[in-house]
Amino acid sequence: MVKAYDVVIIGAGIAGLTAGIYLKRSSLSGIILEKAAPGGRLLNIHAIDNYPSESLIPGPELAAKIVAHASELGVVPEYGNVQGVQKQGDHFLVATDMETYEAKALIIATGTTTKTLGVPGEKEYAGRGVSYCATCDGNFFKGKDVALIGYKDRAIEEAIYLASLCHHLYLFAPQPFETTEAHEKTLRSFPNVEILFGAKLLAISGNKLVEAVKVQLQDGTEKTYPVAGVFPLTGEKSSTDFLAGLAPKNNAGFLVADPQMATSIPGLFAAGDIVDKKLRQLVTASSDGALAATAAIAYVHALKA
Ligand SMILES: Cc1cc2nc3c(=O)[nH]c(=O)nc-3n(C[C@H](O)[C@H](O)[C@H](O)COP(=O)(O)OP(=O)(O)OC[C@H]3O[C@@H](n4cnc5c(N)ncnc54)[C@H](O)[C@@H]3O)c2cc1C
Repeated sequence: MVKAYDVVIIGAGIAGLTAGIYLKRSSLSGIILEKAAPGGRLLNIHAIDNYPSESLIPGPELAAKIVAHASELGVVPEYGNVQGVQKQGDHFLVATDMETYEAKALIIATGTTTKTLGVPGEKEYAGRGVSYCATCDGNFFKGKDVALIGYKDRAIEEAIYLASLCHHLYLFAPQPFETTEAHEKTLRSFPNVEILFGAKLLAISGNKLVEAVKVQLQDGTEKTYPVAGVFPLTGEKSSTDFLAGLAPKNNAGFLVADPQMATSIPGLFAAGDIVDKKLRQLVTASSDGALAATAAIAYVHALKA
């Protein structure tokens, strides 16, 4: 049986949960569908020091606070792994692995996942030395030598965490850093960090577990570094496969939305990291969620009038 709501929110990260809180204050019905644990990306962040009101807080702790606050207000996400979305007339059909939902308005808040590099050995050694989350897996590499591939702010944050745990960290940066001065300064303060700009990862090798990486250095020479862990953290990709061709995306697959978070499809809104924007942070994701819910509420009221 199809379950009908005024607004369906997909994703229970900070963007989807904020949208849920704002939606709850209206007279409309709504649901948040989440395929994993509520909290999203926050659950894998070692520490946050730029969220107003929290001077330094582990990501999972902040996630628990946001989920608990939402729950106090009656906003409790339900399990649902969204597989497809269709627009039929003036409503949407949202198919999960369990049920089908009908919605007058839809808020997409499905965030991003880390890009893979596609080099030999990456797939083979995933979970056996290759990890996309230093915060989650860094502890396995305590006192060992590891490699991190990346140059953006998130990679540098993860590098700082690894540097505090590991014996030696090779940071292969294919491009100049795109990070804050403060993060770069902290990273460079660790004597066990070796930064190699212009380096390109060619292959990951080992036996049962990762044992080495082969890298092309800036001068074109190839060198093998013995490491126990590899963290390919070159960037993020959007989680929008289930939308097929429904919503307008930019070249990188992020959803294009106006300042009210409306896409060009009437009734379809976007919020958080999934949006085509410059700054992907907790506060901007939360702000998007509030704006998207407010616009979705106005849209549904106009539809019903
Ligand atoms: C390593 C790292 C460090 C960071 N550090 C900071 C920091 O210090 N400060 C800061 O402000 N920001 C930081 N960020 C950025 C911040 O985490 C994100 O901007 C924010 O969490 C995005 O929230 P979101 O709700 O848009 O997406 P997410 O938190 O990614 O939530 C999306 C949710 O959608 C769900 N979902 C996806 N697809 C489906 C589907 N098909 N069906 C159902 N559910 C689905 C996912 O399971 C997930 O729970 C960091 C990010 C990373 C990766």
